[in-house]
Amino acid sequence: MLALGIALVLTMSNIMQTQALRDGIASAQTVGRYASAAVPPDAFTRGVVDPAQHADVTAAIDGFSGRLVGLRLWTRDGDVLYDSQSATTGFPDGERLDAAVARGTSDARIITDVQGERAGGTERQVLDVYVPVRDAGEIVGAAEVMLDYTPTTEALRAAIRTVALVVAGGLLALWIALFRTVLTSSQRLQASALDNARLALLDSLTGLPNRRMLADRMRRTILEAKLAGTRVGLVLLDVDRFKDINDSLGHDRGDELLELVADRLRGALRDNDIVARLGGDEFAVLLPDVRSIENAEHLAHRVQSVFATPFILGELPLHVETSIGVACLPDHADDSSDLMRKADVAMYTAKTHRLGVAVYSPNEDDSSPARLVLLGDLHRALAVGGELELHYQPKVDLRTRRTVGFEALMRWRHPTRGLLPPDLFIPLAEQSGLIHDLTRFALTTAVAQLAVWRDAGRNVPVAVNLSAHDVTSQTVVELIERLLGEYDVPASLLEVEITETALVADRSRVVPVLERLSALGVRVAIDDFGTGNTSISQLLDLPVDLLKIDRMFVTDLAADKREGSELVVKAMVDLAHSFGLHVVAEGVEDAATADLLRELDVDHAQGFLFAAALPPDDLPPLEGPPGRWAGRVRRTQPHAAIGGEVGG
Ligand code: C2E
Ligand code: CA
Ligand code: CA
Repeated sequence: MLALGIALVLTMSNIMQTQALRDGIASAQTVGRYASAAVPPDAFTRGVVDPAQHADVTAAIDGFSGRLVGLRLWTRDGDVLYDSQSATTGFPDGERLDAAVARGTSDARIITDVQGERAGGTERQVLDVYVPVRDAGEIVGAAEVMLDYTPTTEALRAAIRTVALVVAGGLLALWIALFRTVLTSSQRLQASALDNARLALLDSLTGLPNRRMLADRMRRTILEAKLAGTRVGLVLLDVDRFKDINDSLGHDRGDELLELVADRLRGALRDNDIVARLGGDEFAVLLPDVRSIENAEHLAHRVQSVFATPFILGELPLHVETSIGVACLPDHADDSSDLMRKADVAMYTAKTHRLGVAVYSPNEDDSSPARLVLLGDLHRALAVGGELELHYQPKVDLRTRRTVGFEALMRWRHPTRGLLPPDLFIPLAEQSGLIHDLTRFALTTAVAQLAVWRDAGRNVPVAVNLSAHDVTSQTVVELIERLLGEYDVPASLLEVEITETALVADRSRVVPVLERLSALGVRVAIDDFGTGNTSISQLLDLPVDLLKIDRMFVTDLAADKREGSELVVKAMVDLAHSFGLHVVAEGVEDAATADLLRELDVDHAQGFLFAAALPPDDLPPLEGPPGRWAGRVRRTQPHAAIGGEVGG
């Protein structure tokens, strides 16, 4: 700003000085023209003036005496024609005279003139200008005009001082204004930055810490807990059916409810517990120091109890329930994101099982390390072969009590965990896409077994379970067709079981698969019938041959639990028969049920009453035609034997 001021003052003073000089020169030119006009032009060429002409010049310049310090008239050659100060002597500044005469322009210079040297002397500024004198366009000489420049210099100095003062004042004012603006705007910026930071960490609706702030607190809390060897708990909760509340009462009421929930949560907890809103209807409570998992669970129940009293929205009392998940560090997790995930798994468990409060359990965790290890093992088992096997459970004719077929049920002889039932690994395989390999194994093994039994003179059908993932593409049909050809087994000996839910899930893709299976002569059974919410006629419409009544109905029959379960089963049987389907009952465990099923006209039955699923070698001999169930399939190498993928 100082540099700017200096530059401004310098420029201004330059402009003023130039202007003053130009004015001075103009004055000098006027004086020069006046004076030279008083002598005849030939005087310049002749180089002399007579006394009368001298007097004329003196008279002519008399009017300028106020400022005029002196006047001389020079010929081109430098002879003096007139000098206001002395008689006839003196020399011009030759260079300047020549310049003025040659160029025809005035030559000005400011000279410091010291007066009365002997008396101590006063200085004055004199503007000395050589003004060319013309006669009919020709330059004949020059008038040297000396003007007192002191007043001009003083006026200039005063003006420059004023300018400098004004500039300095202006700059100071500007500086103050700028300073204030900068100060206030920086204050404002600071304030809004603070607001933003606050907003970034707090939830705008409830004012509770948000997910980011919770994450930050969690990191610090966990660090401290690890150092101190203490336990950190995390409680996650969401409002059950919040979407319905929002949809039916409106978003404003929904927001109001969330604010009320936030208030109650804040009120219910200890001072150092941190309540946060994670977004939507999800809240979290960080318990920085809990004695035990039970203690954390106890606090979770306390959180649950804040929902006991209805919330008043407007006039309306609203009963709201919540699902709460609890996880602890180091018991369930060892870092903050893991703790969050485990609490989330627990919350999901609480929700699906309508538990209210659930503590994390690895069994409920789809991505728990145990499951991942198992998945890896399953990959290995499929690659090396020899660990998976099929066990066969007989299907019995309820009238004759003869075995009319088998259901092939998969088992996994795990090297360290023993014999694993399918419920432990089939869902895992379905989620990971491995199911197609399992299905290929089951079909290959079952068809190979059929071939062995056929060679022993036993032609009894075997049913293989297909997963929902298998029946949406024709690949499975192609595999079956190839296997039957390869082992030379008639299609009528192979059955497939497909659950009711799988049949209706993707009907448009499943129906063509079923049609091709029927065309091949492979029989199709609807498994777990009655568990889905499908209308029966919709199912019976499909190209299916058998209907397996779910174990649930059979159990109900035995326990006489559900009123009218007999009627339900009877209706199913009649309907199935009217569509030309055979009916099989699953899970028959006692003779009374078997009798009842027979009365209800059920054709076949399966269950522990007759036999559990057994390895082929352990199957009891078949009544009727002679022979044993001897002859086990030599372990197949499904991958080597069968190329191609099953399912899509
Ligand atoms: P599912 O198809 O409903 O099979 C019947 C299940 O009931 C079998 O369980 C069988 O052992 C069991 N069971 C048989 N009789 C009784 C009884 O009297 N009482 C009781 N309580 N249970 C009885 P398992 O072998 O554990 O198989 C479970 C499920 O795993 C099967 O249910 C089926 O959905 C699936 N599964 C089994 N093997 C395969 C397979 O090779 N492929 C596919 N995709 N799924 C399979
Ligand atoms: Ca089945
Ligand atoms: Ca079943």
